[in-house]
Amino acid sequence: MRTVHTLKELRAIVRSYRDQGKRVGLVPTMGSLHDGHLALVRRALEAADVVVTSIFVNPMQFGAGEDLDSYPRTLTDDQRKLGAEGNTLLFAPPVSEVYPDGLAHQTRIVVPEVSDGHCGASRPGHFEGVATVVAMLFNMVQPDIAVFGEKDFQQLAVIRKMVRDLFLPVDVIGMPTVREEDGLAMSSRNGYLTEAERQQAPALYRVLSRTGDALTAGSDDFAGLEAAAREILTSEGFRPDYFNIVNSLTLKPASPGDRQITILAAAFLGTTRLIDNLSIER
Ligand code: AMP
Repeated sequence: MRTVHTLKELRAIVRSYRDQGKRVGLVPTMGSLHDGHLALVRRALEAADVVVTSIFVNPMQFGAGEDLDSYPRTLTDDQRKLGAEGNTLLFAPPVSEVYPDGLAHQTRIVVPEVSDGHCGASRPGHFEGVATVVAMLFNMVQPDIAVFGEKDFQQLAVIRKMVRDLFLPVDVIGMPTVREEDGLAMSSRNGYLTEAERQQAPALYRVLSRTGDALTAGSDDFAGLEAAAREILTSEGFRPDYFNIVNSLTLKPASPGDRQITILAAAFLGTTRLIDNLSIER
């Protein structure tokens, strides 16, 4: 598997794929790869002939005081894992390659409505950073398909809307969340957890599952379920950020008639912010 760090090299290689009539897939990541990321690569290899995985810790999507500097960077390990999956090309640009004029001078993409609330409320500017870098990666790689995880449910909704609104010629594929055996959603940030916190962490998925069961059984007491979940999370040692029962398509508060419902949750364990979600149909 080849690794390239510049747009010029990337473009030359992608052009040769195109000349050979190959379908190109893209898996954007921030690296520190785990089995969740590798599931996306495998899915992309089913839908495309060649797969470009990008690793870029995007400064535009981090707020002041967030973990941009401490975010794990493990390129050698990541290269080994991608090579074993049959990934075709790794694109790992430095910040200067993506934002040559600096962040302050960068054109940005705002995706209204679905970016509001949930992580958008807790992390102002986050989805603007995500949408902008994903649009740039789409233009750099010009993939036929791109695969994203449902783990970041609101992010996936933002990207789908951006692609629709801007008529971007990319098929977006969503992949179910890959979990540890105890239910904890895999995340590059799980490595921040202390041993004790790691033991507490699966409670987030347990509370999501319990709430999902109540919804599947027909409960419409959304506010009551949200409050109860926040209370349990607090008693399990979390500091809940949000726990919201929403319509899966609009991400607005769920109504009793909604068939597709998603529970979106974010909570801190110590200084680590975990997010997860669960979708049900009824
Ligand atoms: P990240 O490197 O955290 O920015 O994630 C890159 C991509 O991997 C995004 O599309 C995420 O939604 C996806 N992803 C992260 N964790 C998981 C997981 N546990 N299962 C499935 N996809 C994931």
